[in-house]
Amino acid sequence: MDATTTPSTDSLISQLAADFPDIAFKSKDTFEWDASTATVLYDPTDTLYAERTLHEVSHAALKHTSYDKDIDLIAMEREAWQLAKTSLGPKYNVNIAADVIEDDLDTYRDWLHARSTCPSCEATGIQVKKQGYRCVSCQASWRVNEARICALRRHLTQ
Ligand SMILES: [Zn+2]
Ligand SMILES: [Zn+2]
Repeated sequence: MDATTTPSTDSLISQLAADFPDIAFKSKDTFEWDASTATVLYDPTDTLYAERTLHEVSHAALKHTSYDKDIDLIAMEREAWQLAKTSLGPKYNVNIAADVIEDDLDTYRDWLHARSTCPSCEATGIQVKKQGYRCVSCQASWRVNEARICALRRHLTQ
């Protein structure tokens, strides 16, 4: 565990830790909500650390654990940003700009587009199971990797 945090990070995190006693907060090099251990991982060096930390806490508050369809993951990401912007942001004096949210959701839209495009004919496929798609045009089917809530940015290069 890396305990190195800046003073400003500390004040937001200690406020959050007091208000959400059931959540553990851990400084790391990424942002993630780990429902299995009820832990929010945050990166104190990120320029959007306050926004992204509130986003992760929103996943926790909304009890997001897992999803069946990729489209559900995008809905969860949107929902978490919505709560962060309208509820947690005003409470902790963090103004979350609309384009921060849109840029983040764009990474999910790009990801979904890449996953759902048929590798044979490039038509858009439908998701038939958690890690499988089928093309409605040429009937090809293909597998996709499992994606974790909020850890997408690190997987986009795959
Ligand atoms: Zn196809
Ligand atoms: Zn998220």
